Amino acid sequence: TDTVHIIGGGLAGSEAAWQLARAGVKVRLSEMRGGGDSTAAHHSDGLAELVCSNSFRSDDATSNAVGLLHQEMRELDSLIMTAAESAKVPAGSALAVDRDAFSDAVTAALAAEPLIEIVRERIDALPAEGLTIVATGPLTGTALAESIAAATGADALAFFDAIAPIVHRESVDMDICWMASRWDKGSPDGDGKDYINCPMTKEQYLAFHQALLDGEKTVFKQWEADTPYFDGCMPVEVMAERGIDTLRYGPMKPVGLDNPHAATPEHPTGRWPYAVVQLRQDNALGTLWNMVGFQTKLKHGAQVEVFRMIPGLEKAEFARLGGLHRNTFIRSPELLDGELRLKSAPHIRFAGQITGCEGYVESAAVGLMAGRFAAAEVTGSTLPSPPDTTAIGALLGHITGGADASSYQPMNVNFGLFPPLHDVKKKQRKEAYTSRARADLADWIAETTLVTA
Ligand code: FAD
Repeated sequence: TDTVHIIGGGLAGSEAAWQLARAGVKVRLSEMRGGGDSTAAHHSDGLAELVCSNSFRSDDATSNAVGLLHQEMRELDSLIMTAAESAKVPAGSALAVDRDAFSDAVTAALAAEPLIEIVRERIDALPAEGLTIVATGPLTGTALAESIAAATGADALAFFDAIAPIVHRESVDMDICWMASRWDKGSPDGDGKDYINCPMTKEQYLAFHQALLDGEKTVFKQWEADTPYFDGCMPVEVMAERGIDTLRYGPMKPVGLDNPHAATPEHPTGRWPYAVVQLRQDNALGTLWNMVGFQTKLKHGAQVEVFRMIPGLEKAEFARLGGLHRNTFIRSPELLDGELRLKSAPHIRFAGQITGCEGYVESAAVGLMAGRFAAAEVTGSTLPSPPDTTAIGALLGHITGGADASSYQPMNVNFGLFPPLHDVKKKQRKEAYTSRARADLADWIAETTLVTA
């Protein structure tokens, strides 16, 4: 049949379904949540649920690679980007969303598409035939993961991401904390005061650091203990173990955060704290705030105890505590062709985090391309890959061949994936990457519109 079967209604599967329907292709979207199953990280039955941070990271399309990817996806009619725009919350120069409003917008848009049938069912084996997109994410069901392992002949790897705690806003002591973005750089429509900042003196920082080291941790099983952490999601206590100042140069960096309070017994840090814990708005109502960079494997009891040492959070109530989760992905550079097809079974494509990209935006971007490639196949047209000078092309190129297969690890989009511009002075290089990308994407869109017309 001409129906494309998408397995998994997360960031990637939802975007792929949208792109296929927009191209006039029928879709069966199988999502196990809402059908009696869930994962260790999802809480709802909504499509495209954000399981951890509510941020899509930088929205700066001129000097940031993920901001550029946002922009490219907007130009490619991305449902994920449209829904994000509609569910936006203030977050400085980042794009952050109310997670429920975001998921609702994606779910409603797909439900309204006559060509898409959303089926709440778990799929336990790779289909033997029929065009298929596997977008089951980092928490792919076990039976399906075994079926993938059998088909690929390569072992899927497992390691960890981490969830940062979320605090109820009303439990934060705003006599101690203050609102500010670093260097007062707020979102364009905001007032430059997007984050709640909790200031620490040197003594408070040292005591907090020690408490992180002493706090009771979740014990890993042997196979888990051997697995490496992702740099971007390293547990806060592991950062603390790396050195006394690692946190102060990482998530607890105080630079550019000028405390309006003068030094008094109640405000011992005065204007320049020794370290700062930042909270970022997590929902549209502004009632929930997440602790930026505080993913952790501390036991829940220890988290409450240790995080209440943070000035301003002495009486914090936690809407959610931190945690750690499995992450499944395949060795894509070896297994997939340039159109995301499994070389050994080309009716099957992979999309999203299971391909070894990392992040909401990247997962959706790979879903977008999987959808477009599958649509081209159904309609009998050819779709050349996007140029490797664009963010989406660079990411795709990395996954489907650019990366070293033997040491393959999940990757965020970054300028390191782009063909280098050595001749451009370092200061101007980011802008040179993004302006080249814009021009090349425009050419590609013009060219592919001709091909598909
Ligand atoms: P998902 O969004 O997980 O979607 C996969 C879908 O497939 C799910 O809805 C699932 O229910 C469904 N499914 C799974 N197996 C089956 C089956 N057998 N049959 C039918 N349906 C199935 N990225 C960030 O950018 N920021 C973060 O803060 C962040 N935090 C993360 C925290 C955790 C705990 C994890 C695990 C990942 C995190 N990621 C984060 C990484 C990643 O970007 C997200 O997981 C993202 O959701 C991946 O998109 P996806 O579409 O590939 O997978």
